[in-house]
Amino acid sequence: MSKLNLKDLKKRLETERELLIEKLNGTDLSVDDSETPDPVDLAVRNYSKNVSLAVSENDSRQLAEVDQALIRLSDEEYGVCQNCETAINPKRLAAIPWARYCLDCQELLEKGLLDED
Ligand SMILES: [Zn+2]
Repeated sequence: MSKLNLKDLKKRLETERELLIEKLNGTDLSVDDSETPDPVDLAVRNYSKNVSLAVSENDSRQLAEVDQALIRLSDEEYGVCQNCETAINPKRLAAIPWARYCLDCQELLEKGLLDED
């Protein structure tokens, strides 16, 4: 099993984090996006606003993932599937440094078959 380059992964996570924060700060967040938007409310907003809202929701979710990955790194729990606790394929981590699940569990998650905490 190839050893993970944690230093490198940490650097990538930190860079990603900065980029996301920058992006989020550059987005108009005057709209409260905490929960599902009111459909009537949404209807009166213009299309581009809806798009930027969707983008910023994705980005904040992504930022939370990156943050959690950094916490796992400092707790030395990094690189282990949060569901089945097997080591996540290093190639997968190289592609997605904030991955929480192994490929099998990620598939289950995407099919809605995995219970998230
Ligand atoms: Zn798993």
